[in-house]
Amino acid sequence: MSRERLYLFDTTLRDGAQTNGVDFTLADKLAIARMLDELGIDYIEAGYPGANPIDTGFFAEKRPLQARVTAFGMTRRPGRSTSNDPGLAALLAAEADAICFVAKSWDYHVRVALETTNEENLASIRDSVRAAKATGREVLLDCEHFFDGYKANPAYALACAKAAYDEGARWVVLCDTNGGTLPHEVQKIVGEVCAQIPGDHVGIHAHNDTEQAVANSFAAVRAGARQIQGTLNGLGERCGNANLVSIIPTLKLKADYAEKFDIGVSSEALGHLARVSHALDDILNRAADRHAPYVGESAFATKAGIHASAIMKEPKTYEHVAPEAIGNKRKLLVSDQSGRSNLLAELDRIGFVIDKDDPRLSRLLDAVKEREAMGYAYESADASFELLARRLLGRVPRYFEVEKFDVNVEQRLNARGERVTVSQAVVKVKVGEELLISAAEGNGPVNALDLALRKDLGKYQSYITGLELTDYRVRILNAGTEAVTRVLIESADESGDHWTTVGVSANIIDASFQALMDSIVYKLVKSGAPA
Ligand SMILES: [Zn+2]
Repeated sequence: MSRERLYLFDTTLRDGAQTNGVDFTLADKLAIARMLDELGIDYIEAGYPGANPIDTGFFAEKRPLQARVTAFGMTRRPGRSTSNDPGLAALLAAEADAICFVAKSWDYHVRVALETTNEENLASIRDSVRAAKATGREVLLDCEHFFDGYKANPAYALACAKAAYDEGARWVVLCDTNGGTLPHEVQKIVGEVCAQIPGDHVGIHAHNDTEQAVANSFAAVRAGARQIQGTLNGLGERCGNANLVSIIPTLKLKADYAEKFDIGVSSEALGHLARVSHALDDILNRAADRHAPYVGESAFATKAGIHASAIMKEPKTYEHVAPEAIGNKRKLLVSDQSGRSNLLAELDRIGFVIDKDDPRLSRLLDAVKEREAMGYAYESADASFELLARRLLGRVPRYFEVEKFDVNVEQRLNARGERVTVSQAVVKVKVGEELLISAAEGNGPVNALDLALRKDLGKYQSYITGLELTDYRVRILNAGTEAVTRVLIESADESGDHWTTVGVSANIIDASFQALMDSIVYKLVKSGAPA
């Protein structure tokens, strides 16, 4: 059976960049564009050339991407010609494969916001599409407020869309700009539009103000639209845009869509989706949504003991799709609520066979509960959990001991009279009978401590050369009456393995030290370093 092609249009770098608190640098934008490209997104809308230096910079040169790089901007201003509109000129000068215009399609907005006539707005759409087509670009028109406009004046909203389509726009995109339209309304209206404009030229741009942007996107597809616009992790103004990270797996894994449509995302690329989603959060320096559908850490996590024992027998009993398909993992939570079966499963995963009546199991469960009450987070710190379990089972050698460390932060004037902050650390380590002292300067106290700690571990040094810290996250928690700091450190090594360790203390340096130590010891255990 031949499947229809459905196109994905990402606007993380344009609509997503309008989110409160989001400030992409040019380097961020380029990194995100590469991720989207590897994922197999058809169109990457990278910004608004001329609107700010970063967007202008993005479009200043041709970017080596498979996806169609799309520049966003307004149709020509009312009362001006296309050749006498600096905004339009900047847009047409952009190094882009496609140009996406935004235009009003609600007569009320034409009158009140644009202060022009309905006919002049239509002329502006036609002229702008024609001017962009003349430069050889693919052209899209975002019909702003289309659904509200259609409800108020269907003939005029449709006339705006038709004006662009008749002029040769590849796509006419129906935007639910205020995000208040409901799925059944979207389905009805898109169906009516597709009776006038072929659905393979119609796109949907939904916002999430009623938590239904994803549902609205699917409603539009069911009514005939063949392009979906959205963003990674649903980033976007107010409540966000349609979340492509939820839409893509549904299109790929749910038979109703997978049997009918092809998209540019391969099954292999789908297997990296969780990583892509988390990478965006890393760039935004925010915690990933644990409960995000498909990709969240909790999306395939089971806490209750009874479910955990069923899931070990047959995963399908509690999973709607296989977590590996999107690069996620099944997780049986080791936490304060965990039952013995979760703990046994987790121990099994890391290679411990232990009888379920072994008294050490209760001791481990108690230790986990006690430490989690202090602020440790073993759900997030797999390596620290493994070390805790190994220590309780008596299987972690005492490779080395840190006798003392000293971290010093100094702010002073340098030789050029500039104010600089210098961090230094000195660590005294005992490896067997050997006493080693290392000092290092770092980019901040934790970095200095890390560098000093890993500078010289004597006979163990060769085991940790490939160790690298890849992420460092700090949370202030209120555990009991006092605020404590939880540090999570993500590490990686030469084999590409990643692991996370945790430290908790009232003192951020101390919490970091614990997490650093766990990471080094974990690496030594993992590498099979002799005791
Ligand atoms: Zn939008």
